[in-house]
Amino acid sequence: MNMQQMIEQGKAYLLETYSQVPVVFSGGKGCTLTDVEGKEYMDFVGGIAVNALGYGDKGLTKALTDVLESGLIHCSNLYYNEHAIDAAKAICTLSEMDKVFFCNSGAEANEAALKLSRKFGHRSSPARTEIITMKDSFHGRTYGSVTATGQTKYHQNFDPLPQGFRYAQFNAIESVKSLITDKTCAILVEPIQGEGGVVPASKAFLQGLRELCDEHDLLLIYDEVQCGMGRSGKPFAWQLYEVKPDVLTLAKALAGGVPCGAMLTNKKASSILGPGDHASTFGGNALAMAGVNEMAHRLGETSLCKEVTEKGAYLREKLEKIRKKYPTKCTAVRGFGLMNGLVLTIPPRQVVDACFAKGLLVLSAGSDVLRFVPPLVISKEEIDRAMAIVDEVFAGLG
Ligand code: PLP
Repeated sequence: MNMQQMIEQGKAYLLETYSQVPVVFSGGKGCTLTDVEGKEYMDFVGGIAVNALGYGDKGLTKALTDVLESGLIHCSNLYYNEHAIDAAKAICTLSEMDKVFFCNSGAEANEAALKLSRKFGHRSSPARTEIITMKDSFHGRTYGSVTATGQTKYHQNFDPLPQGFRYAQFNAIESVKSLITDKTCAILVEPIQGEGGVVPASKAFLQGLRELCDEHDLLLIYDEVQCGMGRSGKPFAWQLYEVKPDVLTLAKALAGGVPCGAMLTNKKASSILGPGDHASTFGGNALAMAGVNEMAHRLGETSLCKEVTEKGAYLREKLEKIRKKYPTKCTAVRGFGLMNGLVLTIPPRQVVDACFAKGLLVLSAGSDVLRFVPPLVISKEEIDRAMAIVDEVFAGLG
């Protein structure tokens, strides 16, 4: 089968919930992906902030291969497996949290946090069930997490949605304050909004949320599914802001590309859920846990995070140059570490497609942002090459 035939077979059998780019990838090395015809693409998408170690990473490959060779890919949470025990310690230590519940995705991690919040509220009153989330946020596609997502476009045609969600303006503490009532049990926020357009929270906003949660005895939940795992230049974005949550949700890069999610809790939140309250068949799966262990090791014990900070600053410098060169098309650069956005006045899709044609993968965020979330191991030389392509694309747009 050639690539076109493969795509046709894909279209015939895969439910079309994505508008997929017409390319079939078959392998990768470092930050380069190769399609089935041998064409190479520089990857500034990283599986949407998943493939933190790039492709073919030796350490990750060995960690996963060792599990496969042991014969134990999966047992069940009815029993312990050594990889989950190690991963739990490693991720709690790295994030400075107390305990962890493992699941399989970001949406599931947020579902766990929503259930935990409701049970936390129920402890003081059955009416304490409301969760405040932010406009333009993104928390996933399951019913709870999509309702928590503060973007109506994701809600349309799926009602009735679960009740008990209120939406505040992001980075506006008075807006959050005005929604707090006797019914509120938790506040959920992305420290750096991803899908909404790569918008960092201000430190004052997170500090304000922390104070409100302490004052009203609410749980503060950070969704670090996209901005966690080294992406911000610290292992976790909360460490960048130095404002700690009660609950932290993770996924994407958590296991270096193996499906995995997690909800972490501090002392205040660690004893709310008990046996039988929540579960996941695959959560804590040995293969995924080996990925978590490798990621935690790389983020905690190597210079990876420091390099992310340096390379992120380098990338933003280059993006600033592009913004200044094309001021009618680009209006702002924002982000932390290797999670960055270039705000456009033209549809991002146009730029994404033109970059793709030149062998560079980038993606959009929100309605007007070009998003750059490359593997954390990207080099300055690769950043230079990618920025030269972006420059060429803007020049070609006239
Ligand atoms: N939360 C955030 C901040 C995300 O960016 C995403 C996915 O993009 C999710 C949750 C949902 O994660 P998943 O697709 O693994 O369910």
